[in-house]
Amino acid sequence: MELSNENIIFDTDPRMRQNSSNVELPLKEEDKELLMALYQYVKDSQDDELCAKRNLSPAVGIASIQVGIPKKLLAVVVPMEDGTTKEFALANPKIVSKSMQKAYLAGGEGCLSVPDPHAGPVPRANHIKVRAYDLLSDQNVVIEETGYPAIVLQHEIDHLSGILFYDRIVDHVTEDMIEIE
Ligand SMILES: [Zn+2]
Repeated sequence: MELSNENIIFDTDPRMRQNSSNVELPLKEEDKELLMALYQYVKDSQDDELCAKRNLSPAVGIASIQVGIPKKLLAVVVPMEDGTTKEFALANPKIVSKSMQKAYLAGGEGCLSVPDPHAGPVPRANHIKVRAYDLLSDQNVVIEETGYPAIVLQHEIDHLSGILFYDRIVDHVTEDMIEIE
């Protein structure tokens, strides 16, 4: 299975608002294939040549519902400042704790399923702990992330409940929130 922009559904599609369902573990073959295809979309989308060749849009994450399949599967590939990447291909992710401290991206957020720009800060927890099964490491994991990767994970996990980033845009940020460049 290979995904491209032709598979992506937009926020005008009511499916984007539905709740996704847990998948059975161990993963069935079809769920593994879908999850790997989601991961490959994001990974390849960060390479300019592959992006053009495969008809992808640059992304750091994608959830299964964005290709119209309401399953709790998502992939993130977040490039870090030190040149490494935070990569996960998760099934049934669940946020088990969140910091009170909030953070937001200075440039706002974007989404493969939201073609129109929506400017404005999206405050989210600066630190989160997520429990999931990770296909890349083939094990149950507890992920703890802070800052940018934590925000990306929350954006993708929101998709599993039909929430879009612009639902969370606020008019004003407060001084105690961390701005991430
Ligand atoms: Zn999104």
